[in-house]
Amino acid sequence: MFSLPSPQQPDSSGSTPAPSTEYDNTIFRDFPIPFAITRFDDGRYIATNRAFESTFGWREEEARTKTSLGTGIWHTREERDAFLRQLADSGNIPFPMVHVVCRDGVSLRRRLYATLLPRENGQYVFSGFIDVYGPASAENDTRIKQSHLFQIYDCIMDGYAWVDSTGHFVECNRAFHEMLGYTKEEILQLSPRDVTPAHWYSIDIRVEQEQLMYRGYSDVYEKELIRKDGSVFPIELQLYQHLDANGNHAGFWGVVRDISERKRQQENIRFLAFHDLLTKLPNRVSFMEKLEHLLQRAKYLASRGLSLEVSQEGKQEKETAKRPCQMALLFIDLDHFKDVNDTLGHQVGDMLLQIVSRKMSDLLRDNDFLARFGGDEFICLLEAPVTASTAAAVAERILSLFSSPLILQEQEVYISASIGICLFPNDGEDAETLIKHADLAMFKAKNEGRNTFRFYEASLGADIMERVTLEHALRGALQRREFILHYQPQVDLATGRLAGVEALVRWMHPERGLIPPAHFIPAAENIGVICELGAWVLQEACRQMAEWHAAGFLVPRVAVNLSALQFERDNLVEFVQQQLEKYDLRPQMLELEVTESILMQQTEQTLAALSGLRKIGVYLAVDDFGTGYSSLGYLKSLPVHRLKIDYSFVRDIGRDSNDEAITRAVIALSSNLGLETVAEGVEREEQELFLRDEGCHIMQGYRYAYPLPAREVQKLYKKGAEESPGRSPKFR
Ligand code: C2E
Ligand code: MG
Ligand code: MG
Repeated sequence: MFSLPSPQQPDSSGSTPAPSTEYDNTIFRDFPIPFAITRFDDGRYIATNRAFESTFGWREEEARTKTSLGTGIWHTREERDAFLRQLADSGNIPFPMVHVVCRDGVSLRRRLYATLLPRENGQYVFSGFIDVYGPASAENDTRIKQSHLFQIYDCIMDGYAWVDSTGHFVECNRAFHEMLGYTKEEILQLSPRDVTPAHWYSIDIRVEQEQLMYRGYSDVYEKELIRKDGSVFPIELQLYQHLDANGNHAGFWGVVRDISERKRQQENIRFLAFHDLLTKLPNRVSFMEKLEHLLQRAKYLASRGLSLEVSQEGKQEKETAKRPCQMALLFIDLDHFKDVNDTLGHQVGDMLLQIVSRKMSDLLRDNDFLARFGGDEFICLLEAPVTASTAAAVAERILSLFSSPLILQEQEVYISASIGICLFPNDGEDAETLIKHADLAMFKAKNEGRNTFRFYEASLGADIMERVTLEHALRGALQRREFILHYQPQVDLATGRLAGVEALVRWMHPERGLIPPAHFIPAAENIGVICELGAWVLQEACRQMAEWHAAGFLVPRVAVNLSALQFERDNLVEFVQQQLEKYDLRPQMLELEVTESILMQQTEQTLAALSGLRKIGVYLAVDDFGTGYSSLGYLKSLPVHRLKIDYSFVRDIGRDSNDEAITRAVIALSSNLGLETVAEGVEREEQELFLRDEGCHIMQGYRYAYPLPAREVQKLYKKGAEESPGRSPKFR
């Protein structure tokens, strides 16, 4: 059996020493086809056989001083490397035609059959140089057959078979009969026709035969073969002509590679690229491809005057719904899906998406195309012929799916959807416009009560347009460093000192200037960038605290607002801890403001995060207290330190006795629970006096300072947190 010598370093003359005798004794030497073994890395010859010498003139000792580049097989290193890469990837069986430069300078054209020989001490390339044009002889045939060629080929992973002129297998290697599930003896009783599905045989055989006749070899084909157990598998096949002593066609050689695994992987990759893993529906990429294709087809038909459906009256058609329109796009968004995720968890949310997608797919026609566009958004394409009324009927049927509750993990879950419809070509002629318009129509359906559908209208509200544009600009704003923090001082009337600051984010929009958070925080939550933004705010506020402290400006505490979505991330507690460590802050220097709605959620994750934060030792404040209808009773059980009375109650102190009563009650409740109260939005003296008399001493509001850039806060309070801020100058 063939065994490779251990590779040896070239000696001082540059030649590689002769291989071991173990190697000399192999059939390799006497084999009638020129063979060579080269090192994979540098192409240096390790061994050649006698046929190599008699054909090309290079003695083995001479060859070992050379590389495959030096014998002209490859013109350039790039060419050689490309070939080796292809060989290593084994994507294709490469059988290139090469020119071997003989010792006398003559160049001979040969087909190169190469295979990789991985060995413990490195990779080698085993190359055979086959003369597909040269004369063959009966003697050669017999020598080949009788030789141990197929012993060598038994080491090769590709199947190798020889078919004679009567169309029967006369030789094959182990890989070939094993991939078909036959013994060698059984295979030699068969012909290629017995192992090839009929349709393959009839399609290609003529082309292959012509190629064999005229070129001596065929292209590499993808085909199928039938195993002994009847199963069919994909292969890659290349054929070589075999000539008899008189130069006549006498059968062929086939080299076969089982490509089942590659096909499976390709299928998998294709599926992953074009489908959504959760619902198995086509994804956005696939939808865009389909839409572009249909639009192109429609344009082509229109250019040839074949488009019957194009309406000249624009919107008229949609309203009358009499003439057919070419296509309809339905943008479907589930209503309050986030609540399902928040209250029942992501697993139930995922199940819901799967069930909803299945139900929608079931009610659509085969021709309709449903894709998951992202999150809880789906898009449905109704192909021609479609009228506005058929599109409306489909939308209605989709909505009716939600009329009864879905059962998820033995719970009844009510969900609905809002659908926006736009029609091609009236509402847009390119993919981007059509999707945008269907999306706008969907917003309209949401704004007008949800669980309904709306058609796109050119006059769709400017406010919706504005929202969509804003959301679009928000997506990259963090990367473009467009956010900044302002800090609003909180003062302690009892001690007359700066008690802390609240960090408030602002968006420096390149065209619109400073945008307040109320205008973009809901949008950031809506499109899911709030967690990234919130993390930036937290980190930046901690960094600023460290900077102030380093400058000797000892701000006691910084308060940072948290959004509900930040509690859904697993790592909130860990992230807060990291920031404290990174900026060397004591936990008491950081306060996190959460709204009542976050506390009300009471999901396991929220409670765990709250107690985790409490354990770290950071302060927790309930923001906008009084607006969230929370039951006051459970406040006792929550790990919070402070209540911030909402601005809406403070605003009317001195004007509205109801608000005064609420404020009084909140301060009393807070003190009973051992919590501190902070009043937000204090602007006038009468508010301050009222609050102070009721026992609230920490004030935040324009009366003391506006939210300011860090530098301004430092300037204003530098001399001290020590000095009475009660009457400090106001800044605009
Ligand atoms: P908030 O947390 O209740 O913040 C207090 C808001 O009241 C601030 O508005 C502040 O400028 C305003 N304010 C302070 N004193 C007075 C006053 O005397 N009179 C009046 N009329 N208003 C006063 P701002 O900065 O526009 O923030 C609005 C809301 O945006 C915040 O309300 C908070 O809920 C949210 N927000 C701000 N920054 C962030 C953040 O980084 N993350 C999150 N999730 N939300 C933030
Ligand atoms: Mg706040
Ligand atoms: Mg507030």
